[in-house]
Amino acid sequence: MKILVINSGSSSLKYQLIDMDNESVLCKGLCERIGLVGSSVTHKAHGKEWKVQNTMPTHAEAFSKMLDLMTTGDGAVLQNKADIGAIGHRVVHGGEKFAASVIINDEVIKTIEELSPLAPLHNPPQVQGIRSAQKVFGMDVPQVAVFDTAFHQTMDPKAYIFAIPYEFYESHSIRRYGFHGTSHRYVAQRAAEFLGRDFNDFKVVTCHLGNGASMAAVLNGKSIDTTMGLTPLGGLMMGTRSGDLDPSVATYLADITGEYGANMSKLLNTKSGFLGVSGISSDNRDIEAAAAEGNERAQLVHDMYSYQIKKYIGAYAAAMNGLDCVVFTGGIGENSPSTRSDACQGMEFFGIEIDETLNLKRGEEVDFSTPDAKVRTLVIPTDEELMIARDTLELV
Ligand code: ADP
Repeated sequence: MKILVINSGSSSLKYQLIDMDNESVLCKGLCERIGLVGSSVTHKAHGKEWKVQNTMPTHAEAFSKMLDLMTTGDGAVLQNKADIGAIGHRVVHGGEKFAASVIINDEVIKTIEELSPLAPLHNPPQVQGIRSAQKVFGMDVPQVAVFDTAFHQTMDPKAYIFAIPYEFYESHSIRRYGFHGTSHRYVAQRAAEFLGRDFNDFKVVTCHLGNGASMAAVLNGKSIDTTMGLTPLGGLMMGTRSGDLDPSVATYLADITGEYGANMSKLLNTKSGFLGVSGISSDNRDIEAAAAEGNERAQLVHDMYSYQIKKYIGAYAAAMNGLDCVVFTGGIGENSPSTRSDACQGMEFFGIEIDETLNLKRGEEVDFSTPDAKVRTLVIPTDEELMIARDTLELV
């Protein structure tokens, strides 16, 4: 069966068509600037790439153009849309309602919409993506929602309740949810396979380090804790996000700057993290380049980041009463030897010892621990699309 995987943003639509007979990617692409001037689609198939300017007032036109590129011209990979057996959608917030992927029906769409206050930037465009797909592909093609939060629904209340008046959990569902669940699940499972271990008897810390970043403690196949919280702002510092703070930093900052509510949220979400501390860039490549040239604040960003990762590895090893494996993934996790190396320094005492030569490998699955290290340290490139396609196949 051929499965279309969709990741719909407010002005973008990422797609990937996967042939599940051999899990190969037939084509992928990105529609950008939907609803804005200068919208375009980049389509990749048969080892080539096409960029087409196309007016796309809404996601529905983006779906039509994508389908057009998949079925006609040099980038075609299908005879017609009937060749697509099912569609899998990434949905960011499933709240407490979804602990696993589900077949989409009216009730599911309504619930995703109701959860929008918890992910105002993500859930509404994802519902738009689902509705547009229904319009373009018809109601006969089954669609599945795969939630970023679902994998972490196995957390215990002691890990997800915040120490604020309990009534806010009851009335407004304020708690830790965690995100990047599809990626954490994929790399944790893959790490067990890679090491020939039983996933249900395996203690792994997964580090998804991209522009957004989170870590998870995965014990015997289940997420028992994760760094992000109510929203993807918590936990590790990130490209532009602060990560965890003493909560009074936000209230004190508000008093100093006069920025409250949405403006304070903007400061913490878009002006903080790597960008805020370095004053240079949110991009780790820029940070590493500046640090190599002696920029002290860029070096500070690198040191803070690696230190935070290391602290969570320690915390999660304690939470799991041991550690078999640490997995690095995401743009930084897969490509930055210095972040991996510094995050793993000084932990020989509990079995982490890395081989700096193996650690230089990029973009491929690798075990970069020393042969005798008790804890295996791995790079596993993430593949959220494949995970979404697998869940979709299983459900349909
Ligand atoms: P997103 O969360 O947007 O999917 P990615 O997973 O693509 O982000 O990660 C982007 C981050 O990965 C950026 O900070 C980028 O600088 C970093 N990165 C990508 N390639 C390298 C590299 N070769 N060396 C260091 N950092 C890298």
